[in-house]
Amino acid sequence: MTNKYGQTWDLDVIFPGGSDSSELSEYAQKAEQALQEWKQALEDFQVPDESANPAGLLSIVEKWEGSAKRVFEVVAFVECLVAQDVTDKKAKQWSGKKDELMAAYSGTLTGVDKVITQVPQQTWEQMLEKDELINYAFVLEERRKEAAEKLSPEQEVLLNDLAIDGYHGWGSMYDTIVSSIQVPLEIDGEEKTYSVGQAANKLDAADRKVRQHVFGRMQEAWTEKEDFFAETLNHLAGFRLQTYKHRKWENVLKEPLAYNRMSQQTLDAMWGAISDEKDTFVKYLQRKADLLGLEKLSWYDIDAPLSSTTKQVTYDEAADFIVKHFRAYSTQMADFSQQAFEKRWIEAEDRNSKRPGGFCTSFPDKKESRIFMTFSGTANNVSTLAHELGHAYHSYAMNDVEQLNQEYAMNVAETASTLAELIVSDAAVKEAAAKDEKVALIEEKIQRSIAFFMNIHARFLFETRFYEERKNGLVSAARLRELMVEAQKEAYSDQLGEYDPTFWASKLHFYATDVPFYNFPYTFGFLFSTGIYAKAAENPETFESSYNALLEDTGRMTVEDLAMKHLQEDLTQKDFWLKAIEVCKQDVEEFLRLTAE
Ligand SMILES: [Zn+2]
Repeated sequence: MTNKYGQTWDLDVIFPGGSDSSELSEYAQKAEQALQEWKQALEDFQVPDESANPAGLLSIVEKWEGSAKRVFEVVAFVECLVAQDVTDKKAKQWSGKKDELMAAYSGTLTGVDKVITQVPQQTWEQMLEKDELINYAFVLEERRKEAAEKLSPEQEVLLNDLAIDGYHGWGSMYDTIVSSIQVPLEIDGEEKTYSVGQAANKLDAADRKVRQHVFGRMQEAWTEKEDFFAETLNHLAGFRLQTYKHRKWENVLKEPLAYNRMSQQTLDAMWGAISDEKDTFVKYLQRKADLLGLEKLSWYDIDAPLSSTTKQVTYDEAADFIVKHFRAYSTQMADFSQQAFEKRWIEAEDRNSKRPGGFCTSFPDKKESRIFMTFSGTANNVSTLAHELGHAYHSYAMNDVEQLNQEYAMNVAETASTLAELIVSDAAVKEAAAKDEKVALIEEKIQRSIAFFMNIHARFLFETRFYEERKNGLVSAARLRELMVEAQKEAYSDQLGEYDPTFWASKLHFYATDVPFYNFPYTFGFLFSTGIYAKAAENPETFESSYNALLEDTGRMTVEDLAMKHLQEDLTQKDFWLKAIEVCKQDVEEFLRLTAE
């Protein structure tokens, strides 16, 4: 039987020849040249007189866009090379080159801050109103405002340099401690040691005794090193708080909120709505406990499988299924995805030497995307494929938008992907013939709600409280354990028999230094797209055009403006969030019906 769609991607249309490509080398030189021209434009810049002539700033913007496009094109290609074959040594070399280009890019961005903060306010406002610059007003104003709230450019440069061995140093110290941990496990009568990642994979075993054993041993392993983790976390947080103090920022959420272009009110409304609606999800946890024959679930039971019935699908079937169901929502999304399959934009082959995981990356110059994943025929693979196609569609929807207006934050980055995944997973539930299969598919959906409304809520509660305490001095490992269990109890409405007091040590996200508070944007993204999904059901005729318009705007306004303009919804109020949660509650209700008796 021949396959309808190829399962390896076509990278040659971008740069032929893989990591040996001479076209790639030539292109990377062009990227370097673009960076040089951008630096030159920054040096040439002079603060304009009263005429507020925008030419100097416009030149900077143009060179900035040219650099961004070329640098990101190389970055995307190198990411693809490394992922498709981890043994490709030339690709690794390219990876070093890619890091250099990115470092040069970020360095030059600091130069932009220096230039734009020099312009007097009135002249600045006049410049942004000029036709040539008006489209960039939001992004430029945002940058200038952020730069103004920081320390002087010289101090910020010093801070960044010190952060390499301070702040980021603690971040990588975390990885070092984690990689030193060995978990001894006795499985099937055989005693062996595992890395924490390998051990964690065994936590979803069907046999509760195995889960209990793995959980217990992992607790011991994390606890054994808890003083190292506590020290690392305290210094990392201390660095961050010290920086905020010098910048005179009082709220620890200031930075993550600004980064996600959202207000505290919106964040409060979202968590408020979730807290109001936990009862339904509590019912799910109780039912699951019943089904597993338990009084209460423990931390390690939440992800336990209820059955092992999973239907296998071929890649071609998955492709046709996705395209068919996208079509019910948007012809453009369906046609786009059909093309992605036909033109081989997707690397899905199940083979060794590929990196694990999945991603979607876009080529801003070529205006194409590539999706990376490993397809082995599970329902989960089909969701991942839909998810990544959603990301690719988001890039496609932004093709005609200026480069600088294409950079969206983490909380809206998952809008299109989550929506695409929702469409496909809902369709899979509807089409499932066997009851077992239906239950398994619905549970997979509910698990995501539990993760976003409870697990991530616990992370958020813990992290905000920890940072408050840290302001007054070091927080001990014992106190961190306490804070963590408190947060989990609250987030899971006191429904679990046993919690995970070591979660503050085992969860990588608390130690991430690229973005602070790596938690609430996930929940935001999930509910934001679920809210759009609910809207699509209300207005199927106008969905496609308003959805495309929303995606186009994701890089150039606040999330509140985005929702008001395209959904006529006020994110600072609970209503929107409650409507989105309602969609998730329906899954639980169906689950409860199907598993009654
Ligand atoms: Zn994603």
